[in-house]
Parts: sequence; C-alpha cells; structure tokens
Amino acid sequence: MASYKQPCVHCGEFIERDSRFCPKCGSHSPFGYLCPTCLRPIAKGQSVCAGCGRPLYVACPACGKQTFVDERCEQCGAGMMVQCGNKRCGELQFFQNTKCTACGKAIKK
Ligand SMILES: [Zn+2]
Ligand SMILES: [Zn+2]
Ligand SMILES: [Zn+2]
Ligand SMILES: [Zn+2]
Repeated sequence: MASYKQPCVHCGEFIERDSRFCPKCGSHSPFGYLCPTCLRPIAKGQSVCAGCGRPLYVACPACGKQTFVDERCEQCGAGMMVQCGNKRCGELQFFQNTKCTACGKAIKK
C-alpha cells in the first residue's frame, strides 16, 4: 500500500498519515487539535469544546496572555503540558487537567 504524508499542524513536518505522534515536535495529535480534557477534535476559533464545554482559550501560565489550548502558548511558545505523575503512565497532560486523560489518575500540582 502506498503511504501518504501529511503536514503536522504544529510544526509543518510531513509525516505518515497513520502516525500516532509527530516525530519532530512530539505532538500526539499531529493532524488536528484535540480538546485537552475530553480528547474530542476541536478547531481553532471555537470558544468552547462541544464535548465537555471547557473554554478553548485560556490564559498562558507563563505570559498570562490568551492562547488556544494547544501544546504550546501561541504568544510566547512556553509549553503548556505537564507530565502525568503516575510512573507507569507519564503521558503529557494539559496543565489545567485535574485528571490524566490516559490513566485516569488525579494530577498533583
Ligand atoms: Zn510536529
Ligand atoms: Zn472537551
Ligand atoms: Zn505564553
Ligand atoms: Zn496518566
């Protein structure tokens, strides 16, 4: 079967369409944006998630400016993901998440 490449929306690198993550920037949703809380697909410009109702624009923890709920701040580029404290999980989670979307454990601040 032929393989198709598609650009990562986060860094622009062309990667295999069935990739689970981008090998260049490490994004786990290389072809679109996912709600950091319920993991539904979301689009830039939406103000709230249709799945869970969370706001999709938040104040960046580093610069305080409004930014889309992406892996990095659009304004200053600071990372907005934190690693799950569960040693057997270790998935990156959005800094506002109170529960890990991968293992379901509470995230300690
Ligand atoms: Zn990428
Ligand atoms: Zn959601
Ligand atoms: Zn920022
Ligand atoms: Zn976890």
